[in-house]
Amino acid sequence: MTARSGMAEYAVAEHALIACHDCDLLFRKPRLQPGQKACCPRCGAVLFRRKRSGLDQSLALAFTSLVLFMLANAYPLLRMNIAGRVQEGSLLTGIEELYSQGYWEISALVFVVTFLAPLAKLLCLFYVLLPLRLFGRRAPKAVLVFRWTELLSPWAMTEVFMLGILVAVVKLADLAALTPGIALYSFASLMVSMAAGDAMLDEHEVWDRLEAAGD
Ligand SMILES: [Zn+2]
Repeated sequence: MTARSGMAEYAVAEHALIACHDCDLLFRKPRLQPGQKACCPRCGAVLFRRKRSGLDQSLALAFTSLVLFMLANAYPLLRMNIAGRVQEGSLLTGIEELYSQGYWEISALVFVVTFLAPLAKLLCLFYVLLPLRLFGRRAPKAVLVFRWTELLSPWAMTEVFMLGILVAVVKLADLAALTPGIALYSFASLMVSMAAGDAMLDEHEVWDRLEAAGD
């Protein structure tokens, strides 16, 4: 069965079973409408919810995040004026600076959580969701890639980096005249759009669609 629109129906495999995570009761996975939730008939625990948003919203937010990610890396984060000496810094020059000062572990960590993991997560999402949305088809190895997407999520820590920037800005404010760059606003927006993307993405729906779609 193919699903061609974000809200279109898709098949849930007949044999799909689900176990309650609280009391281990096993039963056939119910077919939910958007906004509905499945509760365990024995203990009442909420097993999963079908979110109101569809693949269209998830894809739109992933695309927004990708544009913001490019802006956040292409422009300077901050311009500092310390006693007439002007210095501009971007995310990647900051990572290079950390490395050149000998903090290679911290520079590697910052590179992974602020650059590599968010970019990889967005690209994996496109790889899985675009063929499903456009053709109702599963891209090669899409199941594996979607598992990676879920594993990458905790490592994409744009919000922690944003907090670090804000602390640095507050501490430097007395010493230097600071001008926020385009990248700072882009990074703050990226943090919001990635959080919204996580909230909108319905993993149960994606797994069901991946199972129902052909290669
Ligand atoms: Zn239960």
